[in-house]
Amino acid sequence: MVPKSSSTRLPRARSKPLVSEKAERFTESVIRDMTRQAHLYGAINLAQGFPDFPAPAEIKRAAQQAIAADVNQYAITWGAKSLRQAIATKMKKWQGLEIDPEAEITVCCGSTEAMIASLLAITNAGDDIVIFEPFYENYGPDAILSDARPRFVTLHPPAEPAGEWRFDEQELRAAFGPRTKAIILNTPNNPTGKVFTRAELEFIRGLCLEFGALAITDEIYEHILYDGARHISIATLDGMRERTITINGMSKTYSVTGWRVGWAVASPALTNAIRKVHDFLTVGAPAPLQEAGATALSLPDSYYQELAAAYRARRDRLLPALQQAGFKTFVPRGAYYIMTDISSFGFPDDVSFAQHLVKDIGIASVPGSSFYSHPQLGARQVRFAFCKTDATLDEAARRLLQVRGR
Ligand code: GLN
Repeated sequence: MVPKSSSTRLPRARSKPLVSEKAERFTESVIRDMTRQAHLYGAINLAQGFPDFPAPAEIKRAAQQAIAADVNQYAITWGAKSLRQAIATKMKKWQGLEIDPEAEITVCCGSTEAMIASLLAITNAGDDIVIFEPFYENYGPDAILSDARPRFVTLHPPAEPAGEWRFDEQELRAAFGPRTKAIILNTPNNPTGKVFTRAELEFIRGLCLEFGALAITDEIYEHILYDGARHISIATLDGMRERTITINGMSKTYSVTGWRVGWAVASPALTNAIRKVHDFLTVGAPAPLQEAGATALSLPDSYYQELAAAYRARRDRLLPALQQAGFKTFVPRGAYYIMTDISSFGFPDDVSFAQHLVKDIGIASVPGSSFYSHPQLGARQVRFAFCKTDATLDEAARRLLQVRGR
């Protein structure tokens, strides 16, 4: 006799949604997807913002030495002492801020984790988070994952290519209310290249104080500045030291985006909460790379001057190539992206244009819609990253000449 298969005795499976409502509410990162498409079509990757040139030799050596010296186990969960000390010293020197490395710094897996850990640490369900748009695409899903409600405020593009992106003070004020927990700032800004002025930051401070809101400021591009632009940390403004979470990291300043070392700096009370969330998210950032981070943050001032000058040269290489190809460009004052207006090409939207660029022209870019709350708002924009070698940028310029309108 053949025994009955055990499966016949299983109860009928009840059907339930497999994934959470939260996970349904956002898509995969378009930036990371464009990198995969660049691989697929053999295109030049001007989409995801990572350098295609080497990191500084002394930093790589420091990482190799740390591994050889067996710094291969967990660092302290909120960061290796040497790196926290180096962060505090650097912030004192550049921002004039006195930071206690024992109580006010949390080292995370990149500034990406620092941002989500901060939001998870401060928000309750239904809290409002004010976000300028266009925005770095992570902030939208970050708000959803932390059960917060994003309130988007427009950064209006300049009428002239060399003009500044600006927010309207009344529009910003209207986004604040009793439920506002925080505003997310990103200066220098991705994707617009805007560098927030002191007057703008003072206006934002006024709203933060009036509404009891925090500022979470992503300053990962702090050293990548052009045309005399000055980076100002909102934490340095009177009244903001205790209500600011300052986020930064090694990725952009030291050309090591794959190392995943970033940090959040905040008052002890905020840091306590951020550290707890961080501990259970990731335990810690890579220990040997944190040691190398201490070396990186101790580089002389000339390193930062050269970094900015090199990025300026790269910006000024790609800008004319885009203009010649027919793009309307917005000239960045900081960070390493050029936002463009693609209206003159006559494509139906940014996504179809970016598809044409990656498949037919061999250049990956990021469709503007991935920086906006509604695709329509970015349908005439495309972003290019210029953190690339001269050879890469020259080849991109050559290919851009093939772009034709529809
Ligand atoms: N900041 C980079 C960009 O905007 C990418 C960051 C990432 O993919 N984690 O392209």
